[in-house]
Amino acid sequence: MDSEITIIGAGVIGLAIAERVTEEYKNVYMVEKHPVFGQETSSRNSEVIHAGIYYPQGSLKSKLCIEGKWLLYEYCRKYDIPFNNCGKLIVATSDQEINVIEGIRDNAIRNGVDDLEILNREQIARLEPNIFALKALFSPSTGVLDTHSLMKRFETNILNNGGSIAYGSEVTGVRAFDGGYEITLQDADRQSFCFTSRIVINSAGLTSDKISAMAGIADENLRIYFCKGEYFRINPPKNKLISRLVYPVPHHNMEGIGIHVTIDMGGGVKLGPDVTYLDGNICDYSVTPSKKEAFWKSASRFLPFLSPEDISPEMAGIRPKIQKPGDPIRDFYIMEENGRGLPGFINLIGMESPGLTSSIAIANYVMRLIRNSKIIG
Ligand SMILES: Cc1cc2nc3c(=O)[nH]c(=O)nc-3n(C[C@H](O)[C@H](O)[C@H](O)COP(=O)(O)OP(=O)(O)OC[C@H]3O[C@@H](n4cnc5c(N)ncnc54)[C@H](O)[C@@H]3O)c2cc1C
Repeated sequence: MDSEITIIGAGVIGLAIAERVTEEYKNVYMVEKHPVFGQETSSRNSEVIHAGIYYPQGSLKSKLCIEGKWLLYEYCRKYDIPFNNCGKLIVATSDQEINVIEGIRDNAIRNGVDDLEILNREQIARLEPNIFALKALFSPSTGVLDTHSLMKRFETNILNNGGSIAYGSEVTGVRAFDGGYEITLQDADRQSFCFTSRIVINSAGLTSDKISAMAGIADENLRIYFCKGEYFRINPPKNKLISRLVYPVPHHNMEGIGIHVTIDMGGGVKLGPDVTYLDGNICDYSVTPSKKEAFWKSASRFLPFLSPEDISPEMAGIRPKIQKPGDPIRDFYIMEENGRGLPGFINLIGMESPGLTSSIAIANYVMRLIRNSKIIG
């Protein structure tokens, strides 16, 4: 066998997994179609370390997010990765929304997030004097981090642990045989070559459903729907008027958690992301300038100082959703596909938010799947 473990996809989740497995196993390969890591969803997100407030009780999203946030803070401290544990306010701007934030707090407590506090107007004004809110739910464990530095550290540790990373290598085929998998790659010059691996970890983000299909899994339930989120930035000097994350109350089916305010490590302040399902799963990262009015309207409910000319188009990311438009929230799909006759083939599909927050916890979870499979000693 050419390799023991192959990880497809060098986004933040694939890198976290590769770092973890190279601590215990030799002969680990990571393959990535782009020339460098993190060129897709992992560099097009809000960079928020989520507290784990909203997710359904008992779901992987809830468990891995809560476990992952503490692991991530610890990791950032250990390796000097820039982060800011700034906290987040979920703001109620009407009486109806006050009931909603109380419900959110109760769900969070059931999930084990017991540090949330409901603040009145005076308490809110002490934290964020420039926002409007009747009441707010304050989450002290929420924060932001520099995702690029995190991914760079994962990459460094993978290489120091003896792992290999093949950039510019696109997986075009996965064929199961007795005892392993034959993986076909195409390099930047369109040269194809094959190698074999005992275990394959599919962490291919937006195209993880395609990789799963290559291995022989035809399951409509695992089909990915591209769901775009666009951002506008708040231009200087108004970006200085906010120092924490500020979120409205979320939509009922959690397609997105509402146009919110996120700050980044460079002092930038973003509004977004919105939620638009894309037809035909095309990687369209354009930002629609005509959405300016809608973004401004949505945010000015709790940012009364904002005028339309204070915001400009910023960037977009695409969520790899396995829920169709309008369907209820789906959980992360993380599975060793032994039950489908593919022992040692581990699928990670639908790894949308809170995938970044959960990345280290996901890596530990995958490590347990590898051990339990007993395929390698
Ligand atoms: C708008 C938006 C906001 C978000 N905000 C947050 C947030 O604030 N906090 C949070 O915790 N999470 C957030 N997320 C979610 C988070 O960004 C993702 O969960 C995470 O980045 C997914 O990482 P990944 O490694 O699975 O995927 P990706 O980053 O997409 O990496 C997959 C990799 O696989 C590679 N690949 C694909 N196909 C092949 C192939 N055939 N051969 C070789 N390589 C291949 C790709 O090139 C890519 O590099 C957000 C997501 C979006 C879209």
